[in-house]
Amino acid sequence: MKKKRVYTFGNGAAEGRADMKNLLGGKGANLAEMNLIGVPVPPGFTITTEVCTEYNELGRDYVVGLLKEEVEQAVAQIEELTGTKFGDKENPCLVSVRSGSRVSMPGMMDTVLNLGLNDDAVEGIAKKSGNERFAWDSYRRFVQMYGDVVLGMKPQSKEDIDPFEEIMDEVKESKGIELDTDLTTDDLKELVKRFKTAVKENTGNDFPVDPWDQLWGAVCAVFDSWMNERAILYRKMNNIPEEWGTAVNVQAMVYGNMGKTSGTGVAFTRDAATGEDIFNGEYLIDAQGEDVVAGVRTPQQITIEGSRRWAKLQGISEEERAAKYPSLEEALPECAKELIEVQQKLEDYFKDMQDLEFTIQDGKLWLLQTRSGKRTGAAMVKIAIDMLHQGYIDEKTALKRCDAEKLDELLHPVFDKKLLAQAKPLTNGLPASPGAATGQVVFHADEAEEWSKQGKQVILCRIETSPEDLRGMATAQGILTARGGMTSHAAVVARGMGKCCVSAANNVVINYKERTMTIHGKELKEGDWISLNGSTGLVYEGRIETQDAELDADFNELMEIADKYARMDVRTNADTPRDAKVARDFGARGIGLCRTEHMFFEEDKIIPMREMILAKDEEGRRKALEKLLPLQKKDFAGIFRAMDGLPVTVRLLDPPLHEFVPHDEKGQMEMARVMGISYKDIHERVEGLLESNPMLGLRGCRLGNLYPEITEMQARAIMEVAIELKEEGITACPEIMVPLTGIVHEFKAQKDIIENTIQKVFAEKNDSVEYKIGTMIEIPRAALTAHKIAREADFFSFGTNDLTQMTFGYSRDDVAKFLPMYLDKGILKHDPFAVLDQNGVGQLVSMAVQKGREVRPTLKCGICGEHGGEPSSVKFCHTVGLNYVSCSPFRVPIARLAAAQAAIEG
Ligand code: ADP
Ligand code: MG
Ligand code: MG
Repeated sequence: MKKKRVYTFGNGAAEGRADMKNLLGGKGANLAEMNLIGVPVPPGFTITTEVCTEYNELGRDYVVGLLKEEVEQAVAQIEELTGTKFGDKENPCLVSVRSGSRVSMPGMMDTVLNLGLNDDAVEGIAKKSGNERFAWDSYRRFVQMYGDVVLGMKPQSKEDIDPFEEIMDEVKESKGIELDTDLTTDDLKELVKRFKTAVKENTGNDFPVDPWDQLWGAVCAVFDSWMNERAILYRKMNNIPEEWGTAVNVQAMVYGNMGKTSGTGVAFTRDAATGEDIFNGEYLIDAQGEDVVAGVRTPQQITIEGSRRWAKLQGISEEERAAKYPSLEEALPECAKELIEVQQKLEDYFKDMQDLEFTIQDGKLWLLQTRSGKRTGAAMVKIAIDMLHQGYIDEKTALKRCDAEKLDELLHPVFDKKLLAQAKPLTNGLPASPGAATGQVVFHADEAEEWSKQGKQVILCRIETSPEDLRGMATAQGILTARGGMTSHAAVVARGMGKCCVSAANNVVINYKERTMTIHGKELKEGDWISLNGSTGLVYEGRIETQDAELDADFNELMEIADKYARMDVRTNADTPRDAKVARDFGARGIGLCRTEHMFFEEDKIIPMREMILAKDEEGRRKALEKLLPLQKKDFAGIFRAMDGLPVTVRLLDPPLHEFVPHDEKGQMEMARVMGISYKDIHERVEGLLESNPMLGLRGCRLGNLYPEITEMQARAIMEVAIELKEEGITACPEIMVPLTGIVHEFKAQKDIIENTIQKVFAEKNDSVEYKIGTMIEIPRAALTAHKIAREADFFSFGTNDLTQMTFGYSRDDVAKFLPMYLDKGILKHDPFAVLDQNGVGQLVSMAVQKGREVRPTLKCGICGEHGGEPSSVKFCHTVGLNYVSCSPFRVPIARLAAAQAAIEG
């Protein structure tokens, strides 16, 4: 059988379905499904994503040949359903050509509307509609879009101006007109003429008049756009494989630009920012396509309620609102009513919050798109829990609906309340993407990137953003735009990124050239501080520090459900009582890694620590260690208290000693004075500590084996505190962890010292507590000989930072020199220090778990590298049977959700 490349839809029938997204793209699959469930959708057809791959492999001409027959038949079907004729003078059929891949790629691919128009067809449309202005407005739009998208006239850099916009501005200026809607038919005719001249000048060719040439040009342009720079960047940022390809949708036009009873809009079945279960959206009368999101005119709200809320935020009176910005419910009540019914139908059917596009042509409603709406982290949680309660979905679906990584936003900071109380709002805008941000004003995306690289916090301020600004937006703390709405580019993208954004800020005038911005007459320069509240839309002068977020009942419920399904525990990496408490509040079930070295950098400890390191013999070291013992005990006490009843894995001293000693003259002089020896001696000892490859030198358990008294002191501190805390009613559950084991004997030697010390402490105190002694697995040799080590060790904790470093042979501290290039060229798919390399490093982990449990079935295994809080790595840990993952406190909820998802999927 011949391969089917084209799927038609229209008039309540469709060859495709919603579950055919891989083949038809998200847009095409849902256009088909909407037809099937009786939602009004203009007829059309979808060319499959497979053709995109064929196009890239076989070339344009060959693929056009393959498609010709099927496309001609599909066009004939549109003609039949609409009673029009493609290329006809009297009654022309106009279509849109739209891209659509499996997942939505906002702003990545451009749509061409009103295709099929030429000097003859425009007259036909004018006559048939009795609306000459509308016909020429459509023609004007078509030539512009076709020139930009298909003929490549859209400027590539933001410094250049779109040649069509330039002509528009000239014409508007010469007529003293501000809005596109004020252009007369004659103006539009002039525009079309000048646009075509511009096309000829720019491309050397006349604007194509044959609709079939136009159609094939547009179809191929969609396929080409899959490989454009912006699309490639977006795919890279979102891990979308190139092989997926895009589908092309060709669809009969419906016209929102036919006058006062026509319009176009975008809507969400629930609030995409907060998750509240209220239908909301924006529309414009007498508008077409992306006018609403382009931010040229101020979009109006669909519901009365939404409209009143909006007016209040904008400081607009009820009279002015009703007169100038009426809701759709007020302006076209019948259409609004139908739209409200349709949105409910779609949500009930797809059982998720939908993001809709609609157009009203002369009082008749048409749906042009539906998809699961992008949402903030807060909305994601609220919608999942609400839909669970409302019976739309079950618990497992609720868990799956939530993107673990996105929880990060909820844990994000809000403004410090005290500072906020004193702060002065400069202006307000729309609360486009929640959260708080403070930073220095920059006006260009590349500067946002540069400044961020220098460690500065920036707020990217733009009149409106466009896809070219993506990188800059990603690095900024927050985004402020002077124009746009809740569904404009900045708003949608910022929500996707979980980045704070205020759009359409009032009385903001931005001057890109001068790099200044005036807000209500107050001038701000590049580098000045401002603060944004993306949840209220308020913009503040100056720097307002932010503080941690508070979590609500929905979040807690989601976490409880997650724990119900997860089979791994989530612990935290914490070195201080404060971090331990934060993590416990986030649901950590213990500490998986308590690094002791950080403790030694504190003021009261660094001097005796240095004495210990610089001592010339064991006696000197022991003297210094005696001073450290009580200090170390105090540290442990705080952590054990915070983790009362939960396991605490304490890692013995790990880093190379030279990290602790002063390398400058002043510091060395001070140590000479403290220790009563000469500067020269100190200097020599410091020099003596230097290694050419410290990461592979005297560190980890090699230290404890060379200087057993250090291990003794640490083991003593841990156990003395554990026993002493019993009196307070605190249960300490210490797990002593030996770092950097490579050979079982070096672990065994350390274990013996620890055991001896523990027995001494028990005897002295005449009391005991439960404990464990285990090791990190972070040297490949340890993984390879795990069966030997497991005979001695109670537990394994995979230190995947070092394990990655040593397996790849990449120095963690130098990797920045080549990693970006490797990622760029696709040599590496991810930074292996961020996302666990499952094929290589993962193999070592999995093997070590297996070998270890062969000799000790009860062996407890966990992970404590950075990967412990990264969702895909957490899922891997589940698969290989780890008992727990341990991550930084703020990643704990993310790991809990990922652990549950792993259990459900696994
Ligand atoms: P994107 O993926 O960027 O949203 P779309 O293909 O959805 O691009 O289309 C861009 C705009 O054009 C949307 O507002 C859409 O509703 C509108 N549009 C697309 N096809 C038609 C059509 N056949 N009739 C009227 N408007 C259309
Ligand atoms: Mg678009
Ligand atoms: Mg769309």
